[in-house]
Amino acid sequence: MIQAPKGTFDVLPDDAARRELLERTAKRILGAAGYQRIETPTFEATELFARGVGEATDIVQKEMYTFDDGGGRSLTLRPEGTAPVCRAYIEHGMHKLPQPVKLWYLSSFYRAEAPQRGRYRQFWQVGAEAIGSAAPEVDAELIVLLAELLEAMSVKGTRLSLASLGTPETRAEYREELTAYLREHEQQLSAEVRDRIDLNPMRAFDASDPSTREIMKGAPKLLDRLSPEDADHFTQVRLLLDDAGIGYDLDPTLVRGLDYYTRTLFEFSSDALGAQSGVGGGGRYDRLMELLDGPPTPGCGWAAGIERTLLSAGELPVQAIVVDLFVSLAGADLGRTAFSLAREARRAGLNAQLELAGRSLRGQLRHADRIGARYVAIVGEEGTSLKNMESGEQLELSPNEVIPAILRGSRLS
Ligand code: AMP
Repeated sequence: MIQAPKGTFDVLPDDAARRELLERTAKRILGAAGYQRIETPTFEATELFARGVGEATDIVQKEMYTFDDGGGRSLTLRPEGTAPVCRAYIEHGMHKLPQPVKLWYLSSFYRAEAPQRGRYRQFWQVGAEAIGSAAPEVDAELIVLLAELLEAMSVKGTRLSLASLGTPETRAEYREELTAYLREHEQQLSAEVRDRIDLNPMRAFDASDPSTREIMKGAPKLLDRLSPEDADHFTQVRLLLDDAGIGYDLDPTLVRGLDYYTRTLFEFSSDALGAQSGVGGGGRYDRLMELLDGPPTPGCGWAAGIERTLLSAGELPVQAIVVDLFVSLAGADLGRTAFSLAREARRAGLNAQLELAGRSLRGQLRHADRIGARYVAIVGEEGTSLKNMESGEQLELSPNEVIPAILRGSRLS
């Protein structure tokens, strides 16, 4: 039996309804703040991600689905949405539009990761990007919008981690300082941390070993090394979040798998999830546009995983589809009359379904009951009977009287 590829899943109708709700909610919340929908291609030139996500990242090193298109071009299934949106911004000269340009998307992404709960090889993200403004209000507004989306989706146990990374130069200097500090205290560090000093000194902050933790208490923090402008920007973002009543933990060790972030960095996680607790996050990427040969343009954005949002969501008010009319037929030769009645009912704005399985009349009525039809029309040789399934009332009508009768009844109820 052929099965869905490892790390992928089918969206079945029940789940589709919850996803639709998320999409509508995102559209309402982001649309109200002036964000407009964008969709970019499923695959892009590999170079876009190599440059825009960063050669050294796990995503580019290990997780991309890259293929040759047969014409000697290397293409990659998009692993994330920010680089493609920035590519589109440059390609369509969006810097000529009033700034910032505010865009949102809901798309599928592809990463060759080891699958587990909440981690797939094809997954969906809803994302928002505001390009063309360095104002701290942009960062704070984006965070507020994501908080509102998660709240509207009843996501449980959310926590917000917040940091500022400064510029790549500040980070490089800080990394040297931290490495030197770790070398100085090498004897007190766990073997694991010691082995990774050059590879990833920041990891030392996450160590559980008591002696390492003691040393890390005295370690220099990136937040204390920010330039005055970057520190001031961060202070403004924090004040706006405080005003908005959004709580957060300052996390000096927050790192996200993408290279292009500058200044603000944030992540929402949920206690309702297991190991993969990140629901959504993002940050500012003021250098990305230049990496993609665009004009220097600041930007900020986030992406939230659809699957993890729904995994950590509470009960959602998913509406069942109302069936106004089920068209059944008393004999096989009445198919054309029944078919056109169903079609006309839909043109009149009713949700109408037609018998399609050749059931007996009794079977048709049972089916109409099962799908919760409000009315059943039984198309017969002599005319059509219309049954109100709630009251049990039955009218004998000519076919062209059926739809007006339902519409009249709907207005009354
Ligand atoms: P990132 O683009 O890595 O910053 O991820 C943003 C969000 O996308 C995460 O918080 C997750 O909710 C979701 N996400 C990232 N990778 C995966 C994956 N492999 N499977 C499912 N969701 C993912």
